[in-house]
Amino acid sequence: MSYLFDTHCHLADPKFSHSLADDLEIANNHSTSEFLSVGSSTADWFDTLQLAKQFQSIHAALGLHPYFIESDYPSQLEQLELLIASNSVSAIGEIGLDFSKGVTANDSTQMLVFSQQIQLAQTYNLPVSVHCLKAYNPMLNFLKNHPVEGVMHGFAGGAQMAIQFIDAGLHIGINSVLLNQNARRYHELVQCIGLDRLVLESDAPFGMNLDSDAPLASLMKVAIKIAELLECPVQEVIEKTTANAENLFIRKDS
Ligand SMILES: [Zn+2]
Repeated sequence: MSYLFDTHCHLADPKFSHSLADDLEIANNHSTSEFLSVGSSTADWFDTLQLAKQFQSIHAALGLHPYFIESDYPSQLEQLELLIASNSVSAIGEIGLDFSKGVTANDSTQMLVFSQQIQLAQTYNLPVSVHCLKAYNPMLNFLKNHPVEGVMHGFAGGAQMAIQFIDAGLHIGINSVLLNQNARRYHELVQCIGLDRLVLESDAPFGMNLDSDAPLASLMKVAIKIAELLECPVQEVIEKTTANAENLFIRKDS
């Protein structure tokens, strides 16, 4: 296995609508050959499912992101469950908690919507892709009591917090923020947790340090940086992170 698996990207985003086939090919030339494309609102669920039908390398995740929770969220969740029940979906995501200022849905509504989606993950035996900002402790407490498999995507919470999420059964998603010279805390996180529960992600088109001509081709640079931080061969990083991602997101029964 010598290819990379991008475990969090938004391929239904309009920024890809005219260039996706080319972007996937460029990524493939840079050894990234599998993608978990996350849908985050009613606006992109259908497109995400469509892409997964169109491209063998794309796996669909559907979820309701805290930014897109509307007052009529019960019907949003109903629609989500219908789609999950009737399509081939690889994960629930992007879901999460974001208690930073400016997010419309209040903390308790977010918690309710998140918990219902965790229940969906348990019912349909699916992993999750989780966004978490300014909500690490409530998130951790919830997941300890409602165990699911999946990834804390774009994790920025520090090594000790990461270890607690790993102990709760989660993986940690690392992106190209790692390429920042001054991202010392992020470098230490990788050194502290090692490869066992690590997966890679671009978060394209929103991720940092992405090449605008090749937004899906950043993973090899991240893998090389991880190898440097862990003083191990880059091949080991590629094999381990891809195996972790496949174990989570490629259904054994399909
Ligand atoms: Zn995202």
